[in-house]
Amino acid sequence: MKKIFILFSILICANSVIQAQQSKDSVMARLTSLRDDYVGKIKAMGYTPRLALPPIVLDNPRSFGNYDDSLNVVHTCYWPTLEPEGKAVFDNFAKQMGHGMNGEKFFQLAVYQWIFIHELSHWWQACQNYKSDPYETEKGANRIATAYWNDRDLKFYQFMLSVFQGVVDHVPSPVPAGFAKEKYLDDNYQKLPGGNAYTWYQSIMIVEVSKEKPFETFKQAIALAGKPVK
Ligand SMILES: [Zn+2]
Repeated sequence: MKKIFILFSILICANSVIQAQQSKDSVMARLTSLRDDYVGKIKAMGYTPRLALPPIVLDNPRSFGNYDDSLNVVHTCYWPTLEPEGKAVFDNFAKQMGHGMNGEKFFQLAVYQWIFIHELSHWWQACQNYKSDPYETEKGANRIATAYWNDRDLKFYQFMLSVFQGVVDHVPSPVPAGFAKEKYLDDNYQKLPGGNAYTWYQSIMIVEVSKEKPFETFKQAIALAGKPVK
């Protein structure tokens, strides 16, 4: 009886390991297919990217996504191994702006779609040798991500825009009185990634980009590496 119980326990453990593994595989498959769509669209415009396709690593960076230009790698997150504080961020967003979705579903939309394309846009900026101050570089990645989603999935773009507008409406500005928000980010960039201040900055940029005229197409955003149309 005892032996059978032990065998049974081992089988259950093995099964849950396989399930976790499959789930990680399905996340990788989802992200790989999105990366390949993004890069495929760029190639279809006639560009040959200077850098190799960036590998994707699921290691939970503090800002929920990161492009490391020194290694040409995109870092993203994996819900089952995300710290409780990280999960709480998305549980909160889901509760306030998720129209009934749970934290994990909100996380999948925000991290695997929005932030992931934002990070790939930093890869494209690196491909184009784009160099600017942190504020303009971040805003440029947001401009490209905005154009990509506006072209590909308008409903999703409008949903994310409503979330970012909600942040701007409800989260107090981290910029001290008398400072320009652009310069304040440029001067404090190393301290900011992750946390409310950084979320506020990303949100205000995305809201501003949404009101730009002309509003960039993905083709223009790629051609300009995220710089605004003059
Ligand atoms: Zn960024």
